Amino acid sequence: MRKSLVSAIALALALSAGGLVAAPAPAVAGGAGLATTQLPRTVRPTHYDVAIVPHADKLNFDGKVTVDVQVLQPTRSITLNALNMTFSSVRLTSASGHAVAGKATVDAKNQTATFTFDTSLAPGSYKLAMAYTGKIETQPNGLFAIDYDTKGGKKRALYTQFENSDARRFIPSWDEPAYKATFDLTVTVPADEMAVSNMPVASKTELGNGMARVSFQPTPKMSTYLLFFGVGDFDRATTTSDGTQSGVIMQKGKAAQAAFALDSAKAVLHDYNDYFGIKYPLPKLDNIAAPGSSQFFSAMENWGAIFTFEYAMLLDPSFSTQGDRMEVFNTEAHEMAHQWFGDLVTMNWWDNLWLNEGFASWMAERETEKRHPEWNTVLDTVGVREGAMSRDAVATTHPIVQKIDTVEQASQAFDTITYSKGEAVIRMLEAYVGPAAWRQGVHDYLKAHAYGNAVSDDLWHAMDGVAGGKPITQVAHDFTLQPGVPLIEVGSAACSDGTTTVKLSQGEFTRDRPHKKPLHWHVPVTAQVVGNARVSTLVDGRATMKLPGCGPVLLNAGQSGYYRTLYAPAQLAALKHDFGKLAPIDQLGLMSDAWAEGMAGLEPVFDFLDMARATPADADPTLWSEVAGSLAALDNYYRGDKARQARFRAYAVKQLKPVFARVGWEAKPDESTSTTLLRTQLIGSLAELGDQDMLNEVRHRYAARASDPKAVPAALRKTIYAVVAVNADEATWDKLHAQAKSETTPLIKDRLYGLLSIAKDETLAKRALALALTGEPGATNSAGMIRGVAWRHPELAYDFAIAHRAQVDKLVDSTSSTRFYPALGGSSFDPAMIGKIKAYEATIAQTARRPADTVIANIKYRMMIRNQRLPAVDAWLQKNGG
Ligand SMILES: [Zn+2]
Repeated sequence: MRKSLVSAIALALALSAGGLVAAPAPAVAGGAGLATTQLPRTVRPTHYDVAIVPHADKLNFDGKVTVDVQVLQPTRSITLNALNMTFSSVRLTSASGHAVAGKATVDAKNQTATFTFDTSLAPGSYKLAMAYTGKIETQPNGLFAIDYDTKGGKKRALYTQFENSDARRFIPSWDEPAYKATFDLTVTVPADEMAVSNMPVASKTELGNGMARVSFQPTPKMSTYLLFFGVGDFDRATTTSDGTQSGVIMQKGKAAQAAFALDSAKAVLHDYNDYFGIKYPLPKLDNIAAPGSSQFFSAMENWGAIFTFEYAMLLDPSFSTQGDRMEVFNTEAHEMAHQWFGDLVTMNWWDNLWLNEGFASWMAERETEKRHPEWNTVLDTVGVREGAMSRDAVATTHPIVQKIDTVEQASQAFDTITYSKGEAVIRMLEAYVGPAAWRQGVHDYLKAHAYGNAVSDDLWHAMDGVAGGKPITQVAHDFTLQPGVPLIEVGSAACSDGTTTVKLSQGEFTRDRPHKKPLHWHVPVTAQVVGNARVSTLVDGRATMKLPGCGPVLLNAGQSGYYRTLYAPAQLAALKHDFGKLAPIDQLGLMSDAWAEGMAGLEPVFDFLDMARATPADADPTLWSEVAGSLAALDNYYRGDKARQARFRAYAVKQLKPVFARVGWEAKPDESTSTTLLRTQLIGSLAELGDQDMLNEVRHRYAARASDPKAVPAALRKTIYAVVAVNADEATWDKLHAQAKSETTPLIKDRLYGLLSIAKDETLAKRALALALTGEPGATNSAGMIRGVAWRHPELAYDFAIAHRAQVDKLVDSTSSTRFYPALGGSSFDPAMIGKIKAYEATIAQTARRPADTVIANIKYRMMIRNQRLPAVDAWLQKNGG
């Protein structure tokens, strides 16, 4: 699964994923080597034969399922997962043909159904047949409906979303990853619509009443959460890659917009077959696009039938940007990596979710670098690591491998630690053992556990076999079983006979516990004297390194390490002096450390400000994006303090304007991708910083869009619209609203509704909130609007959502709700917000409070920055012409 993200409008609308009404786990049946389970271990399934008849108009469905089960111990009852289902019959047949009826009891809280029988069942094989009815949801949990506009009117399509624990809304099942089984799915659907599932269609029978019965080929052994079914008025385009049929499926008429996704899938499938050394095992792989959105995810790796929201898969030539193109590729590469990591080999339980998500994220980044070196995405890895370290440096963090007891906790595990720290740690470990050995280890691990389940130690055992004696398990355990960020302090460095000797010691970087006793890690460190060869070592508490050459010492050269570096002032001064000689990725790494350590109080804030000011005009555009982003972040800390903010803004605009002058409004034919991305970033940042020239030009272009086609080129359309929407007055907002209403392309329509939510003006923000509670924006888009309002009006959005909680609950995926509400208050500086979030916490399960606690920790941190760091920024401005 790929986490939800509303693509960057360069306006820090970075909305991340966000929970289910919890089923507290029954006592977890433990035992070495056994997966965690919330179900009795007495019965296990081997095969499901499922027949579903959806009633799309009534939002419900009829289901019949026969499950081949093995009874392992004598029992009088069978318990499985089921949610929002009504059973009309339950029948158990033994291998000898003896049938007994079962009595169903549903436990909504634990999301289970228990069937009891009059006699004790002897161990052996049985068929458990159930007839039931279920619900079609309006949010992506279980079988759900998406309604969307087309030029020919409204349409409704159905899809499924089961991860992490929603297959139980579709099939009464052993809905946990370790209960792998095979599936035969048959559906009764309108004959003129297309039905799609994990496997190719085996047969289609017209029933004569406008309906058809479609059966799919049996799946391989897999986890329930990977099953997929979709039906609608679709088109499908296909190609072949290494003999596998690769397809894209989307609403009718949009095949051209999926061409990039189709071409990319062909290339990626070939590369992955090659990298993993195991051929993709299913006969086909489809990628299905759907209108709408989710607070939980943007795409899902159902085996052979990847589901992706349109905004992360289709490219509309009138609207999509370079950033969208990169997002489409990365999303597809992530979900396709899961076809091996996750689908073929699945984590035993959600505590090892990172084996899925960290790997897919890392693999996607790797594949993007390989196929699109011109995008220069290797620099993005610093941003991924920064996101992880920021989350990992507060008290509410958790280890990558963490204890998960409840469904809600499993949903919450889809977070920055699992994805981004997972990715960053894998990147470090690959660099530590070497890419060839790492690849061999990955292959050996996948081969040993194909069609089965695994835990992290299975991977380390495979790596031990290829790591050439390096203590990979030790390093991996340090970084996956304990939380937090190592801090490597650079002590004395002396040069003699052309060799620099440098002493290192390891502490811990935290944002909120300055006196914390550091944990201990074995840290792979790569260092160099600037301009000389790199040297690597393993820092076990302390280390002495001998580096060829004399001059400034740079740690984490190449930036593959998951740690921060703290230099002595003289060392940092020397590095600042030689900044231009560093590789762009190391410039970015050094600047990121200076920013984070400056904000945390480990070094002066001015280190970062000096570096930002000294950034050469011709520096890598990604570096300038970083500077622009950090200045916009600082600006945000001044919110509500007009005089000081004005002074800061004057300085920030003065620094960024010449950069924009170089980049210009018009794209040059041969410009780099990073320059294209920097253009939109700077338009957004300068507008955010209140630069009148920028605001005037944006307004001018927006007003001229009808008469001058060049005024708002497709590549800038989203950005220009976003700036206009942020600064909208009532008349402009009304026009945008009218445009959203009449738009018939969901990809654009969904975005326009999103834009209605980002206005600075409080009256308009209130109108956006009211609009979100109506059916108008589309059932899956309203939650995103409330999040949109919350960025600038956290108190308003939070109070509104809590006051209308019964209505808002229906607009949020159940997998996201425990994160959704607290996040609304996340950008507040008001101490009262902490009390409000605590009041919310009292209404949810104790075991589900970590995301809310994290929001509180971040609010406190932000208040600290305002009180303790901004005065230093002010002083620096005074001295440096602010
Ligand atoms: Zn994923």
